[in-house]
Amino acid sequence: MGFSEIRGQDRALHDLHFAWQQERIPNAYLFTGPQGCGKRTTALILARRMNCLGESSSWEPCERCAACQKILHETHPDVWVVEPEKQLMRISQIREIQRMTRFAPQEGRLRVVILDQIEKMNRESANAFLKLLEEPPPNNLFVLCTASPGQILPTILSRCQRVPFAPLRRPVLSSWLEERHGIDAAQAFLLAGLAEGSPGRALQLHEHLPDDQRRSLLTALPTLHRVPSGSTVALELAERLNKVGDQLPLYLDLLRSWLRDLLMLREIGPDPNALIHQDLQEHLVQHADILSTPALFRAVQAIDQCEVALRRNAASLLTLEHLFLVLGGMG
Ligand SMILES: [Zn+2]
Repeated sequence: MGFSEIRGQDRALHDLHFAWQQERIPNAYLFTGPQGCGKRTTALILARRMNCLGESSSWEPCERCAACQKILHETHPDVWVVEPEKQLMRISQIREIQRMTRFAPQEGRLRVVILDQIEKMNRESANAFLKLLEEPPPNNLFVLCTASPGQILPTILSRCQRVPFAPLRRPVLSSWLEERHGIDAAQAFLLAGLAEGSPGRALQLHEHLPDDQRRSLLTALPTLHRVPSGSTVALELAERLNKVGDQLPLYLDLLRSWLRDLLMLREIGPDPNALIHQDLQEHLVQHADILSTPALFRAVQAIDQCEVALRRNAASLLTLEHLFLVLGGMG
């Protein structure tokens, strides 16, 4: 997989290509953009380009030589991907990078250290990493990836060349899902809308959010408002979501996407192309009649609060029951 297979990131790829042509690869890049939009994949292709043993005038790495193959199989000694351990980029990880980058690359031309989710550094790690950037060891390229550049020390930002990655437009992502992953057109268009322009997220949704689950959860939402059966529905939905385990954040995002569609319907009207869940338009229309616009905003807040509570280890079933009872009580 070369640069040509990265979709919708023309600007980012242009910046990288230009720097490479001019032989002006910096010591550190900062790739910014939503999670799953190709930052890490691009960094790995760049690592192959910099170390490829094949045709050196071609922008695309050959993908066949020993170096490309090792990087593809994650066995190249000079290409590292560092990611947070338990939600934190630890000082021990940064110290290890400091220690190892003192030596020349073992077999490559350029050591490429990809730090994913760099915003997960605490102050101690960030300060240690800053020292590394202040006196960059030769023959090392750091590629920092983040969806939240606002959370990064300005002193780190100022030492990196920024390369912005954009969310993909829905039709672009949709056709990529069809062509590359054989997903049928309707499902691909739905996933592209749900994933908000992120291919990685679309694939995650495809794997972990079965379409029958989506439909049955969302079509039950308007019935939450029925008296007296709504509260029974609320408890059932809470129980169902409580069983999805690690995938719960996906389902909470799914609820948000439904509210977003309701808001679109109320504010813009029934434009099917603007809806994520256009296949469920009938249910959306029914629900949009029940919920006022202020109630929709309160509903989004209720989901946010539920998420915060769950992150703080609140009892999940109770928290979800509360959420659905609150949603059902709105109107
Ligand atoms: Zn190669």
